[in-house]
Amino acid sequence: MAERANGAAEVDIRRVLKARFGYDEFRPLQAEIIENVLAGRDSLVLMPTGGGKSLCYQLPALCQRELTLVVSPLISLMKDQVDALQANGAAAAYVNSSVPAREVERIFAQARAGRLALLYIAPERLAAPGFARFLRAVRVGLIAIDEAHCISEWGHDFRPDYRNLHLLRERFPQAPVIALTATATARVRDDIVQQLGILDAQRFVSSFDRENLIYVVRSKRQRFDALVGLLYEHANQAAIVYCFSRKDADNLADSLRQAGFQALPYHAGLDADTRKRTQDRFIHDETPIVTATIAFGMGIDKPDVRLIVHYDLPKTLEGYYQETGRAGRDGLPSECVLFFSAGDRRKHEYFIKEIEDPDEQARAEQQLDQMIAYAEARTCRRALILRYFGEDYAQPTCGGCDVCLTEREPFDATEVAQKVLSAIIRTGERFGALHVIAVLRGSRARRVLALGHDRLSVYGIVRDLDRDSLREIVGLLVDEGLLRLSGDKYRVPSVTAAGRAFLQERQPLTLRRAVRETETPEPEAHEPAEHKPAAAYPQPSGARPRQRERVEHVPAAARPQRGGRAQRATEGPADFDLALFELLRQVRLELAREREVPPYVIFGDRTLREMASSFPQDHPSFERIFGVGRVKLAEFADDFLPVIRAYVESNEAQGQGYS
Ligand code: ADP
Ligand code: ZN
Repeated sequence: MAERANGAAEVDIRRVLKARFGYDEFRPLQAEIIENVLAGRDSLVLMPTGGGKSLCYQLPALCQRELTLVVSPLISLMKDQVDALQANGAAAAYVNSSVPAREVERIFAQARAGRLALLYIAPERLAAPGFARFLRAVRVGLIAIDEAHCISEWGHDFRPDYRNLHLLRERFPQAPVIALTATATARVRDDIVQQLGILDAQRFVSSFDRENLIYVVRSKRQRFDALVGLLYEHANQAAIVYCFSRKDADNLADSLRQAGFQALPYHAGLDADTRKRTQDRFIHDETPIVTATIAFGMGIDKPDVRLIVHYDLPKTLEGYYQETGRAGRDGLPSECVLFFSAGDRRKHEYFIKEIEDPDEQARAEQQLDQMIAYAEARTCRRALILRYFGEDYAQPTCGGCDVCLTEREPFDATEVAQKVLSAIIRTGERFGALHVIAVLRGSRARRVLALGHDRLSVYGIVRDLDRDSLREIVGLLVDEGLLRLSGDKYRVPSVTAAGRAFLQERQPLTLRRAVRETETPEPEAHEPAEHKPAAAYPQPSGARPRQRERVEHVPAAARPQRGGRAQRATEGPADFDLALFELLRQVRLELAREREVPPYVIFGDRTLREMASSFPQDHPSFERIFGVGRVKLAEFADDFLPVIRAYVESNEAQGQGYS
């Protein structure tokens, strides 16, 4: 263990956090880890994806004079991290196979001159000629090993080059080592400290609970419609849909495009250029939806993926956890939906039978059982995942999975079902469910009036149920076989033979609907038009615009401190102005294009949401926003402030009372 007396205690790490990263609070364990590093001691950090591992070495790197060497295996991630650091004004660079030799020399010279705080290197560099010479001439104060499980043969991603890491340890015995990984098995942990020669490293193990993720399992029946619904709910947000096969990924992307979405496939069968282009488009917010096989996601660090869908059952729960882990790294509520049907087992077993090694076959079988147990669980899904990772989850309910969130109750649906079926027949079985619902609820929407549907006998006969309840009932009637959704492109409900029989025979009908907590009346859909996908798809989202249109202005000073903690996935509608948020997103996109960086490098969603709820109009209030540090204040405040001011003024002019 290397102790250093560098007066670390004098560094006010909280101040550095705000000034250099723009954050107000540390995430769990970050402060302890940073203090351990600054005290010159070795650390082993086990945190789930999105836990905030990078900050644990980036912040110390900015507090000391010597170079911090960061070893990282993923080239694309290196670039992202360096972009993000540079946007915050940190002197950072990376060296890997994509960097030309001349540039490498320049970067090395910078490092030797002490003008670089962080240098990211790929592991193969360790053995490259010239690197040893570089190491002899540079002063290194901290060694960070990202994806440290790559050093272990027991891990899922062993990289022989990682075995050369001990060279760094030997060359810089005084520099503390911080090894970080999201892989949690005990065997890998022990192997990491062993291989790196940091047996005394303090171990920091955080919970693997991803608090801001909501876990949902849904039936595969009408799965395309359900997916479309989800994508509408997450309009304008990044989503990954994992598919069973390459062909499925291709087909699904096609269907989604036909339905008016921007979606591209990604899988190992596509050539490298196409894959790269798709990945870039996704990262730069140009194509929000990617349908993929598991090949997608490893090399990306996009913090604002809001929806991960598994269109088919994954092979293992560990894989599922890793893939869903790509959602919501920024701590904002995000959703993970798995489509499952009882028939999935057979499909997987067919492949398991082909495995020749009997041990491997048995293991695959066992993993499939665990995965299916998750999908079929009637108990908390989060608890099930955490138990799988050896963690106890004591809470009786997590409040963030479908099992914990839905309570069902039987109700007499005879009358409402008759009304819904009649309305579908009366409108000619040609319209999407939302139109039928609008007619039932007596909507004055232009389309209803233009079609003369306000003159039908079914107009306005269900005024006591809100749109969501009626949508749910339509879904339940489909499940019940009384309705079917048809049309290849447009999902139009029509009444089945069983539905007609039900109407004629006037049978009683009991359905089980989700018990809903306090019903807050929801405004009719008046999201900005651009919020909806281009095509005239007659079944728009509507489901639950999660964001309120207008919020009252809260002076920044009176704003409750928002911590670095993740937001619970199920927190109520976010308090921000959606229209302003969209304007700010546009500003962000332009800045990102000019600078050729991903939009999140400029500001994350949470920062824009805060701007759209606290309406900063000058530098001091802008600086208080989450994610605004010194450098970003100087660099970007004058791009965003005019837009906010103009927005506030135009609303004031309309008497909406922002002050
Ligand atoms: P990991 O490497 O553990 O997957 P990252 O280091 O990429 O996670 O961090 C995930 C996201 O959380 C990043 O967008 C990062 O900027 C953000 N983040 C990290 N620490 C904090 C904090 N204390 N407060 C707010 N956001 C944070
Ligand atoms: Zn739960």
